[in-house]
Amino acid sequence: MKLSLRKINKLTDAEVADKLKLLRWPSTNGEPVCPDCACDAVYVIATRSQYRCKRCGHTFSIISGTVFHSSKLSLRSILQLGLLWANAAKGKSALELRRDIGLNHKSSFVLLHKLREALLTTADDTPMDGDVEIDGMHVGGHIRHANRAEDRPEQNEAPTPVRCVLALCQRNPEHLGGSMRTRVQVVETETAETAFDFITRNVVQGTTIYSDGHAGYDRIGMWYDLRRVNHRRAYHGDNGENINLCENYFSRFRRLQFGQVHKITPKYLAEYANEIAYRADTRRWTNEHITHDILARALQTKRTETFRRYWHSGVVPETVQEDIPDDVQLGNVG
Ligand SMILES: [Zn+2]
Repeated sequence: MKLSLRKINKLTDAEVADKLKLLRWPSTNGEPVCPDCACDAVYVIATRSQYRCKRCGHTFSIISGTVFHSSKLSLRSILQLGLLWANAAKGKSALELRRDIGLNHKSSFVLLHKLREALLTTADDTPMDGDVEIDGMHVGGHIRHANRAEDRPEQNEAPTPVRCVLALCQRNPEHLGGSMRTRVQVVETETAETAFDFITRNVVQGTTIYSDGHAGYDRIGMWYDLRRVNHRRAYHGDNGENINLCENYFSRFRRLQFGQVHKITPKYLAEYANEIAYRADTRRWTNEHITHDILARALQTKRTETFRRYWHSGVVPETVQEDIPDDVQLGNVG
C-alpha cells in the first residue's frame, strides 16, 4: 500500500493514535503497556490522551519513554514525519525537514538524529552468510586550493581521508538485484586488522566472500572462501567475482553526502552510513511499509541520554572507536 500526506490528513485523531499505538505495542495488538512495570492494565485519561497504570500509578502517553519523549509534535505530525522520511530515498536534511514540518533547525536536526539512533539501536546483528561482498570507502579530507594558479601545487594533491566506511553486502540468492542485507562500520583506516575484525564478527565462517585486491583482505582467506577481483584488470571477474553491491551502497552514500546533508562530521558518520544501509535494504518496500517500520523502531527504542544532553551542551559522543579531531568536516571531498 502506498501512503501519502493526503491520506494521513484524512485520518481522524483516533485513527492516527490507533496506528501509532499498534506500532508502539505490537505484542498486545496496540493495547497500552506501562513502560515502568510492563503491566497492561491501565486507566485511560481521555482528556489528555494519556494512560495511568493500575499497578504502579505511572502516567504515560504513546510517546513516553521513546525517542519522541517530550516532543512537541502532535501524533499526526509524527506520522507525517515518518512518511516524509520514508519518501526521501537519498536521505533527508534537517533544513528540508524544518521547512516541511515547521520546526526550528535544532529540533529538526535532533529529530533526524534520534531516528538514526533508533535505526542503529534496532539494527539486525544476526550473522551474514551465503555470498557476501566487502569493500571500504574513504570519507573526508579537504584541501582548500590556493586562489592563484601559481600558488597551487603542480600535481593535484590527494586529500587525506579521515575515516573509512567498511561495508558488507549480502547477495540475494534469488538474484533479484541489489543486496539483501547491508552492514557497515566506521574505522580509521582499511587495514588487515579492521577488515578481519569486522568480517569475523558479522559473517559465518566458511561463507564465500568477494573483495577487491586490497592487501587488507589477504588474511580473510584463512577462514573464508575468498574470491577476488583485480580492479586494475576488470570490474567483473570471469566467475562472477565483483563487488558491485558495495559500489552501489557507496554511491547511495555519496548522494546523501553531497546531495542532501553536504557536511558530515566524524562523530555522526556511523549514523549516516547505517541510515543509508537501511535505505538500500528497504529500497523495494512501499513507503507505507517503511513509514511504519521506522516509526515502530523509534517508538520501541528507549530514549537515550545522547541527544537529551545535546540540548544543553551541544556535545554528542562519537560512535566510533578511534580518536579524530571533532572539527574535521567530511562533506567536501570524496
Ligand atoms: Zn506500571
